Amino acid sequence: MTTIQKTLKGLWSLIVGLKVTGKEFCRPWITVHYPRQEVSNLDSYRGHIDLVPFPEDPRKPLCIVCRRCEEVCPSGCIRIEGHVPGEEKENPARRLLLISDVPLPGSAAREPVCSADKTLRVLDGFSLNYNLCSLCGLCVQSCPVSSLTFSGDVYLAGRSRKDFEYDLLQRLRMRADSANLREAV
Ligand code: SF4
Ligand code: SF4
Repeated sequence: MTTIQKTLKGLWSLIVGLKVTGKEFCRPWITVHYPRQEVSNLDSYRGHIDLVPFPEDPRKPLCIVCRRCEEVCPSGCIRIEGHVPGEEKENPARRLLLISDVPLPGSAAREPVCSADKTLRVLDGFSLNYNLCSLCGLCVQSCPVSSLTFSGDVYLAGRSRKDFEYDLLQRLRMRADSANLREAV
């Protein structure tokens, strides 16, 4: 290949590159300049799981401490603490485990709220290690009382893994308190 041919080939490749750049430059932006701007189309975004409260008491979770989510989580990132009123420490033999027929990811099927064990339990702690979570959704799908949902927390940042270990019960109460504060202002 002569020098002229090489030059022409180089120029042509430059033109093709500039054509692609020009085309993309004229298209509307589909990204935003975070942190100056934030996206608004987060309706279908799946953030980490969060507890759902009673509508009439936003500080109280719907959770009945059945521990199904803890059992089905393939990554072992959920730890639940609860107790039966009147008992100091929960008796493991009285745990409610209904892990049969757990719906597969993507399935709309959900077990009805039923159990032979109607023991009332109080949730003391619900910790999530978000570092391990694969967002598979099994916990959300298998909760018999729809006490779990995906949060819309898209802008998460931390300095260490510890920053992504959440106390979901505390988060629920903080959300309720800040909503109360906003209403009071
Ligand atoms: S979404 Fe999946 S991995 Fe994450 S906590 Fe739930 S069950 Fe575990
Ligand atoms: S499956 Fe639902 S009700 Fe049962 S412990 Fe988990 S969040 Fe609570």
